[in-house]
Amino acid sequence: MAKYLIRYKCGHEVERQLFGKISDRENYISWAQEQLCPACQRKIHHEEVACQRKAYHNEALADAAAKGYPKLEGSEKQVAWAMDLRYTFVNDTEDYIKEEIEYVIPDTYKNEAARNEQLAHFDKFCTELREVVAYLVANKTSAKYWIDSRFWIDPLTYKFGEEKTQKDLVREIKKEMEQKKLG
Ligand SMILES: [Zn+2]
Repeated sequence: MAKYLIRYKCGHEVERQLFGKISDRENYISWAQEQLCPACQRKIHHEEVACQRKAYHNEALADAAAKGYPKLEGSEKQVAWAMDLRYTFVNDTEDYIKEEIEYVIPDTYKNEAARNEQLAHFDKFCTELREVVAYLVANKTSAKYWIDSRFWIDPLTYKFGEEKTQKDLVREIKKEMEQKKLG
């Protein structure tokens, strides 16, 4: 075991402890000299992620404008985040519908009638699901709602116990829609 001062491609020097055979250490050092130091690599990674996030946000903005979605209320930061979550929610729901329809493939059904029955059943469900999506987009204008829902909307922040299937969502929101009509 020995300490080496490695000078990376970016010019930064970092002290590293290296183990193993001398020839392996030397190989490692000559490889490392051609790389960016860990701090510079992290910095570039963060910039890339921030850039992707910005591109996604621009998509969300354009989509909301094109579809005439209501403006969200909250601080500037909250609104920006909530818009991305709303965009993810609407798109993921449409992707889910597309995937499920493709999944109702002929081979897995006894006959055409059984398949059609399943398709009709799913079609009814999709109509309800789209009503729920439209209701949420029209009525949930507080950025807080979308941010609080991130654990079941955003795959990157999924939290155990907070998941909602599309069926759960329809059940829950239909109830809310009914109550709203009555109240
Ligand atoms: Zn560096």
